[in-house]
Amino acid sequence: MALKVVLLSHSPEPERAVATAARNCYSPRDVESIDENWTPDAIEKMVSRVRDAGHLSTFEHTMFTFGVGGVSRALTHQLVRHRHMSYEQKSQRYITLKGQFEFITPPSIAARPEIKAKYDVLMRQIAAFYQDAMEAGTPAEDARFVLPNAAETQIVITANARALLDFFSLRTCNNAQWEIRELSFAMLRLVKRAAPSLFVRAGATCVRGYCNEPNGPECPRYVIVKNPVAARRVTTLTEDGPTRASDEIVADHQTAAMAG
Ligand SMILES: Cc1cc2nc3c(=O)[nH]c(=O)nc-3n(C[C@H](O)[C@H](O)[C@H](O)COP(=O)(O)OP(=O)(O)OC[C@H]3O[C@@H](n4cnc5c(N)ncnc54)[C@H](O)[C@@H]3O)c2cc1C
Repeated sequence: MALKVVLLSHSPEPERAVATAARNCYSPRDVESIDENWTPDAIEKMVSRVRDAGHLSTFEHTMFTFGVGGVSRALTHQLVRHRHMSYEQKSQRYITLKGQFEFITPPSIAARPEIKAKYDVLMRQIAAFYQDAMEAGTPAEDARFVLPNAAETQIVITANARALLDFFSLRTCNNAQWEIRELSFAMLRLVKRAAPSLFVRAGATCVRGYCNEPNGPECPRYVIVKNPVAARRVTTLTEDGPTRASDEIVADHQTAAMAG
């Protein structure tokens, strides 16, 4: 089951919405003219001004809605801790499973054939128990108690650009768990396309040149962001058969480079 992320909708012109909100603070225009006579350059200038000043409440006047599938309940449990984003998740009470359920297999388990085989057996046993419980008249809301963190789920997320910046800062970091990091990067790529100026410096704090994690200086990604020579070395190392980790490092480096 692969991660699926779709940007379902967003504010029509997110950068203009931010610029207009900011202009309200700095211009004598009344509300009828506050959104008039914008040029792309003027929008870019206004967005840079508030972005660089940290006047990020202006970024809240935007909205981005994502559809996310092929993720585990372990991921969504972490995701919903971000309190400024809104969620609707597929219900395990109203959608009952028929004899099997989809589940996510972490790469570290997939890479170990013996463990993977046991993992698959366990998932089948859980599915069989769930089915027996349902057939015996157990309500779905109780039968689901046996479903694991691995159970696949689908979630709709809506957030403004400021909440997304916070989310990207924590969850694209190499210290974040791999699955939510993949999701975070996928969402970041989508919003970077939709509103490049808002997200130009989005990402883990190393993209902006610092790291507060105790192991920060040893993190390959931090090293890369701080030191382009190391970036080239890692890229060369991956040429003969990239590992997942080095793939991520290079992908993350590309994101950091995109962020300028
Ligand atoms: C690497 C990593 C490891 C983690 N490990 C654990 C763990 O072991 N156990 C665990 O329980 N959680 C863990 N978490 C989750 C973490 O504690 C946060 O719940 C989660 O990252 C959401 O962050 P947040 O509260 O800053 O974000 P949000 O809820 O998105 O809030 C964004 C910002 O709004 C402000 N804010 C929001 N609510 C309040 C409030 N009530 N009062 C004041 N300011 C507020 C804060 O400035 C906050 O940073 C981990 C997260 C990461 C990234």
